[in-house]
Amino acid sequence: MTAGPVTGDAERVTLTGVSKSYPGPDGDVQVLAPTDLTIEPGEFVCVIGPSGCGKSTLLNILAGFLAPTAGQVRVGDRVVDGPDPDRGVVFQQANLYPWLSVRANVEFGPKVRGVPKQTRRAQAQRLLELVGLDQLGDRRPYELSGGQQQRAQIARVLVNDPGIVLMDEPFGALDALTRERLQRELLTLWRDRRKTVLFVTHGIEEAILLGTRILVMGTEPGRIVHDVTPSFDDGADFATVRALPEFATLRDELARHIYAAHA
Ligand code: ADP
Ligand code: MG
Repeated sequence: MTAGPVTGDAERVTLTGVSKSYPGPDGDVQVLAPTDLTIEPGEFVCVIGPSGCGKSTLLNILAGFLAPTAGQVRVGDRVVDGPDPDRGVVFQQANLYPWLSVRANVEFGPKVRGVPKQTRRAQAQRLLELVGLDQLGDRRPYELSGGQQQRAQIARVLVNDPGIVLMDEPFGALDALTRERLQRELLTLWRDRRKTVLFVTHGIEEAILLGTRILVMGTEPGRIVHDVTPSFDDGADFATVRALPEFATLRDELARHIYAAHA
């Protein structure tokens, strides 16, 4: 982990010729074709596409967990060469430390970075309040529901004040009601703080409701086949957006691209 400054100011993300191959029995298999992509600070980018098309690969390269086979990812003018607290990652399964309280989990990042005890206490408390877990800070992760664990995970990432938040199907394992609550909360957080978000999902509606930009990926090799910027009012509630004729039109358009990409 590079101990760079954690400013929380979102910077432009630039991918140039980023590709990924794995060795296969008959030579290298390209799972991500050379990809150029620019994400502006504050964009909420949703990535959709069929299973196996390389969504997680793309996200893990941005996170710095995976090195691209070729090409380069830059955040501002820095080249990504490993994980960094300025790029927070939320996976489908919350990976909280089971032996620590929820509060201690949230404090963990600042503690590792050497933030003094009182400051990190206050930071953790603010984040727990933000995600509605301030009453549950003393519990262990296994004493939380799936939705609460995911909230704790989001708090644990946001406490580092990352400029960029990378989320890989973060609400995929939750029931529909909890998912919708967390979707709303995430949008509120994003509106307040204007982080850059890259959000992987296989839900077309979720992508439309959340994203200011939607990337559709296709398979063999994984690549971006469609890039749209929906123009819904990002302050409108979900029911209103869902009822718009443009919502259905965009949903059908995205579905066509996904099925075409899958054929
Ligand atoms: P998605 O998240 O869209 O479902 P992934 O990015 O997880 O897709 O995977 C893309 C492709 O890369 C898949 O075909 C997967 O089998 C392959 N893949 C992922 N990791 C490895 C690996 N370590 N070795 C070989 N192939 C891999
Ligand atoms: Mg995946």
